[in-house]
Amino acid sequence: MSISIPKDFEVQPLKAGENPPGRVTCGTCGLSWDDSISTGWTPAPGGRCPFEYYHENEEEVVVEDTADDNALITQDGYLVKALDLLPLIDEDYREELEQLITDGNTAQAEQLLLSLWDHPYPPIQSVFLLGPDDVGDDIMTTGTTYVDFARDDLFKWTPSIGMQSLMNDGVEPKICEWGMWEDQTD
Ligand SMILES: [Zn+2]
Repeated sequence: MSISIPKDFEVQPLKAGENPPGRVTCGTCGLSWDDSISTGWTPAPGGRCPFEYYHENEEEVVVEDTADDNALITQDGYLVKALDLLPLIDEDYREELEQLITDGNTAQAEQLLLSLWDHPYPPIQSVFLLGPDDVGDDIMTTGTTYVDFARDDLFKWTPSIGMQSLMNDGVEPKICEWGMWEDQTD
């Protein structure tokens, strides 16, 4: 992968031979930066890269082959706990949605939530339960139902109006990485 970083970007890649003690290299784009300098992007949280917005054609979904018929489907995106969205929907439906989420009835919870979800919030991509065998990063809890927001906002310099509305209403989606085991047999 070869990427270029605008000259006015807050974090500038280190050149060959520049080796400050805070030098960190991204395994995806291969660029290095000085993580000891504090900017809006650095120090970068574990495993992340301040140049992610400029990563091109990064695969959204990685399938790890395993010996059996299961594959770990890994993804990243903006997540919130589904229950955290209850205050934002029509009061008349809160109890019903809460029950569906609590019962782990993900498909119906998604259907109901999508029917109630509207402007000005960002589009919802899916509702899913992080099962006991699935893998979540340290922000996530297994056995919890999450809402995944459309990826359009990932790594944007400025959050979209929808994302901003959500944050203004007290819900701040977090960038998470997770993997779910899926049966690959047809
Ligand atoms: Zn990178």
